[in-house]
Amino acid sequence: MSPIGTLNIGVVGCGVAGPAAAALLADAGHHVTLFERFSEPAPSGAGLLLQPTGLAVLRHLGLGEQADRLGARIDGLLGLNQLGHIVLDLAYADLHPAAYGLGLHRSVLFGLLLARLQRSTATLTTDAEIVDIVREAGRATVIDRTGRRHGPFDLVVVADGAHSRLRERVMPRARAPLYPWGCIWATVADKRGFATAPAMLQQRLRGATTMMGLLPVGQGLVTLFWSLPAAALEPGRPIDMDAWRMDALTLWPEAAGLIEQVADTDSFARATYRHVALPSWNVGPVLFIGDAAHGTSPQLGQGANLGLLDALVLSQALAAAADLGSALALFARRRSSSVRFYRQASHLLTPLFQSDQPLLGPARDALLGAARFAPGLRPIMTSTLAGLRRGWLSADTLDAEGRYRLDS
Ligand SMILES: Cc1cc2nc3c(=O)[nH]c(=O)nc-3n(C[C@H](O)[C@H](O)[C@H](O)COP(=O)(O)OP(=O)(O)OC[C@H]3O[C@@H](n4cnc5c(N)ncnc54)[C@H](O)[C@@H]3O)c2cc1C
Repeated sequence: MSPIGTLNIGVVGCGVAGPAAAALLADAGHHVTLFERFSEPAPSGAGLLLQPTGLAVLRHLGLGEQADRLGARIDGLLGLNQLGHIVLDLAYADLHPAAYGLGLHRSVLFGLLLARLQRSTATLTTDAEIVDIVREAGRATVIDRTGRRHGPFDLVVVADGAHSRLRERVMPRARAPLYPWGCIWATVADKRGFATAPAMLQQRLRGATTMMGLLPVGQGLVTLFWSLPAAALEPGRPIDMDAWRMDALTLWPEAAGLIEQVADTDSFARATYRHVALPSWNVGPVLFIGDAAHGTSPQLGQGANLGLLDALVLSQALAAAADLGSALALFARRRSSSVRFYRQASHLLTPLFQSDQPLLGPARDALLGAARFAPGLRPIMTSTLAGLRRGWLSADTLDAEGRYRLDS
């Protein structure tokens, strides 16, 4: 046990960062209760690309082999425009021959994390939507929708996602504007192995208004993404499937076997994203992690990885520091530079891929197309994809086996 001793910790949100943090903190001997609003915790969302960073945390949790078995190895990112010109072509092998990403369906990642949580001493309390957090005498009590109070806790870790309501309650100065564009996605069977040869996250782009992505997620499945303005994604608003199919087939005729499996509007799930900026990671004993703290657009495929790293670094900081205040300060020091970089980079790049400005698409094709051949830029782009950046000028490296070191 660390010098801090045993803490009573509440965690809000059983998505990615929440269950990882709860399991790691329980393993360290703390008393942990995880609150989730759903009666049955369940994954929502698309397939995810896990980077060497997120994979290292899964390995630390003892989930690496299962994830590797259930997911799809991804060697890089390949983006072509409507003329067939390469816009993005990044390979993890440029960092280390053994490096890779992993496409994983969110339900699989969630199942692994939930089982891991259930093997720990943490308690999962479902059907508990936390609507407020009250701070008294250096501790925090959470209040659920029925008015029931839980706690007090020495530390409350809020991991309730990008659309966090608790962020507004606890940190009114936080900013979390909605991006004007979001996406729809569906996971379909890849019967002919179209999306796994090559084993890449593939994108087809037409200007900045049209983008389709294919991410193999293992077990013969592939997640198909399609970019849309947020206004078109309001719940209940129908999607013109005939128009979508025609547009998708024109953009990517070779993917017809996948496109044609998406039968109707209900086959698509919808997502909007926020650009989250907090004035600080914590207010007293209430700490924000994951998308609640630093939601971004998914353009760089980092959110789940950042959330997993938050969970790990929090457990390391609590183990290393003498008191809670020092632990939270240490956590902030260790996480801030890389999180700041990914927030900024995502925000800068997103309009190049999702916007109705007619000049941005061609400008992107020209700039990124040229950057592929610029000797200094390529390693920066690849280390950005792999989750290794610490800032615009510095990055971590992979170890001798091509893996991310968690003590980096
Ligand atoms: C289309 C799309 C594609 C993406 N692709 C990638 C990718 O390739 N790679 C990647 O790393 N990331 C990707 N992301 C981002 C990734 O999904 C998020 O970063 C990640 O899910 C954040 O995890 P989290 O635990 O912070 O929040 P979430 O996963 O959103 O979990 C929040 C949890 O909190 C619960 N909750 C919410 N409010 C309350 C409350 N008041 N009380 C109790 N429980 C509550 C929710 O029910 C949920 O279970 C993508 C996102 C989208 C939308």
